[in-house]
Amino acid sequence: MNKVIIITGASSGFGKMTAERLAAHGHTVYGICRREMRHDKIRYMQGDVRDAEGIALKIKEIYDKEGKIDVLINNAGMGIGGSLEMATQEEIETQMNVNFMGCVNMCQKVLPYMRKQRYGKIINLSSIGGIMGLPYQGFYSASKFAIEGFSEALSAEVKGFGITVSMVEPGDFATNFTASRKNSEATMNDPDYGPIFKRSLGLIEKEENGGLKPEVLARKIEKIVDAKHPRLRYVVANLEQWFSVVLKRLIPGNWFVNILVDYYKTKP
Ligand code: NAP
Repeated sequence: MNKVIIITGASSGFGKMTAERLAAHGHTVYGICRREMRHDKIRYMQGDVRDAEGIALKIKEIYDKEGKIDVLINNAGMGIGGSLEMATQEEIETQMNVNFMGCVNMCQKVLPYMRKQRYGKIINLSSIGGIMGLPYQGFYSASKFAIEGFSEALSAEVKGFGITVSMVEPGDFATNFTASRKNSEATMNDPDYGPIFKRSLGLIEKEENGGLKPEVLARKIEKIVDAKHPRLRYVVANLEQWFSVVLKRLIPGNWFVNILVDYYKTKP
């Protein structure tokens, strides 16, 4: 059945691939991103997920035209790398506002329509960085942990109205995410943190660039869109990252931190 689907961050990476896949399979797909985009099957709308009022107008426009909103996919996101100690107020706000508040804004503006319909599906992009605190990606992890708590609570609040909430938790994938990452200059230039940050960033970038193809994730999201009873969480990662998620749930917190210290070589 044809669904009306809104997806944020549809100009690149997971968002673009997922939008193209869903549109090719007959759904009516609206893509929201800041860049101006054109596509014969995707209805692009220019917008910033941080702009709650602008978003509200776009969502109303979609609902007025289509008469329903079946699925919202909150995918827009970016990363800022650096030490937690040296992150500037602007870096922290940008990271939290795009990744977390962007997701909150979209949900708050779509939910009145979904509640009125008594159905709807929300899919929020978390990360395995939303399951474990990644060193030198700390505010990125914090933004994804925030999405985790928000999505779980939201799921419990709106289930009774026929609305489901799911989280997708990807491991490393090769998208434009790596090239778009902003890095803290203060951390780079610090004699203590600088060399460790550069080393750990090199490792992270290598893993992302050699990561899974975004098609894998687009296929998974399509399955969630089609699922009658979607799960709350979907980890989509390679075997090693899957194992780290399982380990995180099984072993004491301090042991897991020691593994992170060794893996990312965060000791001077
Ligand atoms: P990407 O290729 O860099 O795409 C990011 C998308 O987000 C772009 O379409 C960008 O479009 C959009 N965006 C960024 N800021 C925005 C804003 N303020 N308002 C509206 N749109 C905005 O990265 P990706 O890997 O596909 O990332 C998609 C999601 O997956 C993110 O939430 C990311 O955290 C998550 N994720 C990625 C990985 C990975 O390894 N790649 C792993 C785990 C989770 P414009 O620039 O045109 O606005």
